[in-house]
Amino acid sequence: PSETLVGMIEASCRLYADAIALDFFGGTTSYTQLGEQISRVANGLMRLGVKPGDRVALVLPNCPQHVVAFYAVLRLGAIVVEHNPLYTERELRHQFEDHGARVAIVWDKVYATVRDFPADLGVRTVVAVDLTDAMPLVKRLALRLPIKQARSSRDALTVSALPKDAVEWSSLVRARKLRHNHPRPALGDTAVLQYTSGTTGTPKGAILTHSNLRANALQGEAWVPGLTPGQEVFYAVLPMFHAYGLTLCLTFAMATGARLVLFPKFDENLLLDAAKHTPPTFLPAVPPIYDRLVTAAEKRKVSLRSIRFSISGAMSLPVSIVERWETATGGLLVEGYGMTEASPIAVGNPIGPSRRPGTVGVPFPSTEIRVVDPADPSIDRGVEEEGELLVRGPQVFSGYWDQPSETAKVLLEGGWLRTGDIVRVSADGFVTIVDRIKELIITGGFNVSPSEVEAALLSHPDVADAAVVGLASKNGGEDVVAAIVLTDGAALDVDALRVYCRTRLSAYKVPRRIVEVEELPRSMMGKVLRRSVRDDLIAATP
Ligand code: ATP
Ligand code: MG
Repeated sequence: PSETLVGMIEASCRLYADAIALDFFGGTTSYTQLGEQISRVANGLMRLGVKPGDRVALVLPNCPQHVVAFYAVLRLGAIVVEHNPLYTERELRHQFEDHGARVAIVWDKVYATVRDFPADLGVRTVVAVDLTDAMPLVKRLALRLPIKQARSSRDALTVSALPKDAVEWSSLVRARKLRHNHPRPALGDTAVLQYTSGTTGTPKGAILTHSNLRANALQGEAWVPGLTPGQEVFYAVLPMFHAYGLTLCLTFAMATGARLVLFPKFDENLLLDAAKHTPPTFLPAVPPIYDRLVTAAEKRKVSLRSIRFSISGAMSLPVSIVERWETATGGLLVEGYGMTEASPIAVGNPIGPSRRPGTVGVPFPSTEIRVVDPADPSIDRGVEEEGELLVRGPQVFSGYWDQPSETAKVLLEGGWLRTGDIVRVSADGFVTIVDRIKELIITGGFNVSPSEVEAALLSHPDVADAAVVGLASKNGGEDVVAAIVLTDGAALDVDALRVYCRTRLSAYKVPRRIVEVEELPRSMMGKVLRRSVRDDLIAATP
């Protein structure tokens, strides 16, 4: 890339001046207005003492203020640190301890939490974003956002009720515009500190530069054919505080001059209501969202045929969902693959007839991949042989924040990123994800892929959901153990299920134990958290 994210957003605000940039429950902001708000908030933040290289924490759901705050922080050459606003006090505090941001921009629901962090954490200023101001009551109820007792939102969060260092968002928006010649960041500067999802351990802060993130948005533009600049309607249902939503919605959509329709939470009915008056053309999401949406649309008889592009990632996409979705929309649903450390997309299916459901596609433009022996990454694996995926390209990060030893584990010489995922690649270059190395089960000297066992279980009509993990066995090694959710009305028959699995799996892969559970723990993206399943099973074992 030749320009930073700041150069990118400034160009969009000029080019698409009168087009709608942001749409929040029908309240709209044009690109010109967006540019002005970014400039004002940047000035407001500068006056609060934010300097180049400072970390500024955002703890916000998808809302217009999130977009404005993101670019205002970048405009100053400071670093955005994204957070999941639904994290507990403890989880948030750990991340603040890690990055040491002194200014935080947070929605009102976590305002008190961040304000009350211990003083030695160094959070000096908290900007409270009053989200409920922007929405009619009915939407707040539907989203279960906190409803204030007070008639006026000012009553609950007035400046006088806040400590000295608290600032209302509205006062930042009222600031003058930033001087035009105020220094801008450089391409190699850090733009975002993005925490990984924490599926396999404590989330790690990935350092992403302007160059990394701009590269991934440009790769996205090269990937999606036939986008009409200034005309697309993107639905932002993916959380923008996660790498996937950040790149698809915060940067890619804005780079193409799209209208970004913001949803602070996924709710199929709210989305279908919105689709009636502002039909979406582009919907990046995850498999559970496509599933719920297509089911609700069929039931309510709402058309999804305006959607031309649908992109799925973060977890594997069942082919059955692809078929239903493509029938409903008349467009393509393609799967890609990525990780926070790659800004995040590294591999994607061609958006056209050559896409291949069940695979994650081919390397992104200017991205190289290798498949290697996980025990010795200098040994390459052949076509269709399973091995660890390595990725190299302009979107690959430069390390974890303040964790050189973790960085050294994943960044190899020559700029190769170890993904920790086992894959195989076909002769014509299509990548199939097998599993994460950390989640493979070793039983009697064999490797068992939990995904393969889960797929076998899920193909049984009585099984609604399944997670497979390894638990320490008496004779060393691990046993394959399954936690399953049964479909309504089904009764657990362990022997019958095991016999059924045996028709699809080699004997050593058949779960030794099958345990019924009410539901499986999932991440906010909808990934099954096998780590938690494992902990729960251990805790439940006498
Ligand atoms: P942590 O690194 O903290 O354990 P995480 O790896 O889940 O969490 P992310 O960066 O959000 O954090 O997720 C990247 C991972 O998601 C990949 O390494 C891969 O395991 C998985 N993934 C991404 N896309 C797909 C896909 N299309 N199919 C299967 N798995 C996928
Ligand atoms: Mg990871």
